Amino acid sequence: MKYISTRGKAPELGFEDVLLSGLANDGGLYIPKEWPKVDYKELPTTSYSEQAAYVIYPFVKDFLSYEELNDIASQAYSHFPSKEAIGLKEVEKGNYLLELFHGPTLAFKDFAMLLLAQFFETSLSKKNKSITILGATSGDTGSAAIEAFKNNKHCTVFILFPKGRVSEIQRKQMTTVDSASIYPIEIDGTFDDCQNLVKHLFQNLEFKEEVSLGAINSINWARVAAQIVYYFSTFQQLQSNRVSFSVPTGNFGDVMAGWVAKKMGLPIDKLIVATNDNDILDRAISNGDYFQEEVKATTSPSMDIQISSNFERLLFESLNRDSEKLRNLFLELKENNGFRIDNDTLNHIKNDFKSGKASEKKVKDTISKIYKASNIILDPHTAVGFYASAKIIDADVPMVNLGTAHPAKFSQAVIDAIGFKPEIPDRLKNIINKKEKFTELENNSEALISFIRKHSNV
Ligand SMILES: *Cc1c(COP(=O)(O)O)cnc(C)c1O
Repeated sequence: MKYISTRGKAPELGFEDVLLSGLANDGGLYIPKEWPKVDYKELPTTSYSEQAAYVIYPFVKDFLSYEELNDIASQAYSHFPSKEAIGLKEVEKGNYLLELFHGPTLAFKDFAMLLLAQFFETSLSKKNKSITILGATSGDTGSAAIEAFKNNKHCTVFILFPKGRVSEIQRKQMTTVDSASIYPIEIDGTFDDCQNLVKHLFQNLEFKEEVSLGAINSINWARVAAQIVYYFSTFQQLQSNRVSFSVPTGNFGDVMAGWVAKKMGLPIDKLIVATNDNDILDRAISNGDYFQEEVKATTSPSMDIQISSNFERLLFESLNRDSEKLRNLFLELKENNGFRIDNDTLNHIKNDFKSGKASEKKVKDTISKIYKASNIILDPHTAVGFYASAKIIDADVPMVNLGTAHPAKFSQAVIDAIGFKPEIPDRLKNIINKKEKFTELENNSEALISFIRKHSNV
């Protein structure tokens, strides 16, 4: 399996190089040269990790044998409390909640990050090489990464988070992990400042080389690949002929994985792209308007995004893989802050996707409504997905709403909606009183560079 860049000007690579390089060096994103088919009827029924090996193998087979992949997946998903890893609950007739928050940091990002950490460790120990991982987070990515990489022997991990803008639980998840190779860094700035610092350091090619900088953000193909699996598992549990999914969306990684599952042969009817007030993707999919606005702070911060990186992969596919057209769109984006998607391309997208948007009031109403009807407490991200799908439900096709985070992670929004605090799971309770350890840095790339130089293992 070879991978090509969406921008068409970077070399074709195999999985391992795609894993380690993250972004292609022409600024594009790597995507498989062709889509493999797998037979969903043959999906193992034994455990989630065996299902993961079955679904992911076609993408990694020139890197790992089936047995190696099986071992790696089994290691990765041993951090979940049960071998199913996911939970599926019928909330109302034909309307389901897919619980993706049973992992160690209580958000769906654990699924991809735990596997990514194992992939990195396997590759780097074969090569006998060390790297420096640098990432920015608005909360969930950072905690998932720190948890997944804490025992890694070949990576030193630096995670930037914005001062005062992550929830207390999210911060403690990052700052109470006892590991000599993990450095949570509080930046005196916003999430965008953190992301800009990361970009800046990746563009400094000398420094990138010097410390062997590696990326774990959701443009990394391996993260998308890992997320394909639970679409298959869910389908197997539902025992229906078709299914639709509603996906709370920010960077378009999770819903892209659903689209890939469909490409691989899973009978998915519609994928619903659900956004909060930061609705660039709802505007893009409903009428072709991909123009950036100011980022608004909402109760679902992991979706507070105006640049949706993985959407580039879908655009590339919907333009029939015409990378020149794609490059032109991204030039326009740079010059005019956005572009229009032409009708042909948009119709292509609408074959597979619908979209919806939930205002802050609708998020609150939805948490309250679902709680009253079924006693189930949704986190605000998940509530965005439920609100968007409610308008689209088709009586003949089951609707599965992806539950991307545990409500205890975003308890303030839940209190505001239903008047009390969701119970904190035991494995989270024990971090509340642990001592925090992190570094404070100003929003300045020189300071960050010298900190990384001093602490990196490379
Ligand atoms: C990251 C995240 C999302 C958005 O997922 P994307 O893959 O970026 O679209 C939604 N909900 C939660 C809780 C998240 O952490």
